[in-house]
Amino acid sequence: MQETGRRKLGVMGGTFDPVHHGHLVAASEVAHRFDLDEVIFVPTGEPWQKAGKQVSPAEDRYLMTVIATASNPRFSVSRVDIDRGKTTYTVDTLRDLQAQHPDAELYFITGADALSNILTWQDWAELFELAKFVGVSRPGYDLNIEDLEKHLQDSPDDAVTVIEIPALAISSSECRRRASQGRPVWYLVPDGVVQYISKRHLYVPGRNGR
Ligand code: ATP
Ligand code: MG
Repeated sequence: MQETGRRKLGVMGGTFDPVHHGHLVAASEVAHRFDLDEVIFVPTGEPWQKAGKQVSPAEDRYLMTVIATASNPRFSVSRVDIDRGKTTYTVDTLRDLQAQHPDAELYFITGADALSNILTWQDWAELFELAKFVGVSRPGYDLNIEDLEKHLQDSPDDAVTVIEIPALAISSSECRRRASQGRPVWYLVPDGVVQYISKRHLYVPGRNGR
């Protein structure tokens, strides 16, 4: 339903360490279902808490995301979270993108696992003013719909939509583990990303701070 004539922009946030086909299928499927004009992939900034888990340098994650999305004319990559630095909060991502695209309608795309976290930890009332949320199914993660509905009681009906997408049981963690053990990641991530991981020795124990 295109009543407003506003551009509809999908926003796919993630660490993308590395970006994989699960991310790409999620973005493609939501773009089709919601008739989006574009999906912007937004790699997160580098977490300021160095103590927690190791994350690859932002520039590597950014370049892998560019490589993975380059062939799709409706996919693009934004540096807003990387350039802001530190830990990324979805509310900042959406504020920055809304400022860059004042006339657009934003759709934040998120997997079942991440959706619950965003709605638990952040001021979702403001989040819903900035974007509509689309939760996509992900193998191994059950979205607790009742819990979600309790949170959403006072929100507009279309604040959050949950959709079923083709199931790809791929995670970046598993890709990192495989790469670190010398096992293949071919066909889990785009070919160019396989080559980038190897060229930059990402996920090799003892390299890049691992
Ligand atoms: P990690 O294992 O490091 O957490 P990840 O595979 O979960 O990586 P992220 O960068 O954390 O990837 O995820 C970005 C977004 O993509 C999140 O909203 C996540 O829920 C979603 N997502 C990731 N993998 C899938 C998948 N296979 N199917 C559906 N959604 C996914
Ligand atoms: Mg994740």
